[in-house]
Amino acid sequence: MSQAGPRGNHSVTKAITRLSLTNNHLHLSRTSSSSSTSIASPPLRLPPSVIAKSQGIKYTTTYANYATTTDGKLLSYFHDIPLDLDLGTQEANFVCEIPRWSNAKFEISPHLPANPIVQDVKSDAVRFVKNLFPYHGYIHNYGAFPQTWEDPTQEHAGLYGDNDPLDVCEIGSDILHTGDVRRVKILGALALIDDGELDWKVVVVDVRDPLASSVNDIDDVETLCPGLLSATRQWFKDYKLADGKAANRFAFEAKYKSAREALQVVADCHQSWQRLISGQVGTTEKVQSLPAIANTTIKGSPGHLSEFDTKLDDSPPQPDAEVPQITNKNYYFK
Ligand SMILES: [Mg+2]
Repeated sequence: MSQAGPRGNHSVTKAITRLSLTNNHLHLSRTSSSSSTSIASPPLRLPPSVIAKSQGIKYTTTYANYATTTDGKLLSYFHDIPLDLDLGTQEANFVCEIPRWSNAKFEISPHLPANPIVQDVKSDAVRFVKNLFPYHGYIHNYGAFPQTWEDPTQEHAGLYGDNDPLDVCEIGSDILHTGDVRRVKILGALALIDDGELDWKVVVVDVRDPLASSVNDIDDVETLCPGLLSATRQWFKDYKLADGKAANRFAFEAKYKSAREALQVVADCHQSWQRLISGQVGTTEKVQSLPAIANTTIKGSPGHLSEFDTKLDDSPPQPDAEVPQITNKNYYFK
């Protein structure tokens, strides 16, 4: 086990200060039962109660999965679920977009009002990732940290962010559902370069998973889940080969960053999101389109609304469309 905890590190201490200052500045009103904005936390902090409501037909372009409160009020998965990053316990809230072993490329829409989870569309067709033998679809519960943003207008390590929330791989045993919000422990991160953009993949585990109490850093993952980290790196390197695209590359010699460094990435991306949501980021010649900033919980922010105009259809859910046969095919790469 690594003894190197995140406490006591100067840059993380600075991040804590920034985080608490900016949180206070934005007057975050939380949907969770925890209304505290302090960094010190009780041992059992729960994610907010969010109910995922699906609209349209799954595996078609009509599908959209919205976050709502228990009272049925619409929330943005991107902006209204608190990140609630705790640098002491290494925990934050996570939104699952894609359940492990599945192929449909679901993601939080940065542009639609209320930022529902929709299936990515390429060339007018909903997108499914191919199976890289011996896996089926994604090899982890995959999703994003709410209230984070990889800023495409600022350079980090010679690269620009991908204009999306920060990506997360949850390695627990449960298969999660699209729209699940879970409290997770942050363990490390891998810096993917996707189409020339910086696209961090943060490795986490659900705090309720039996593994969670035994893993505190990326080396613990290697010890207790041998093969997981190299398989994850290989998967992200290769997953577009089956679509005829080039292999992805990685920054930092393809090495995993430690938990402490990953926490810094999350804190930095939260700060980027705070600049975005407070209207401090403008488009540039290179970045013509920024995410929608409409939200219902960040009072005083330029996008704040009392509620979203979108009305959900309460009629019974329609059966899913068929998943295409191609999602059963194996693809082999050297
Ligand atoms: Mg990304």
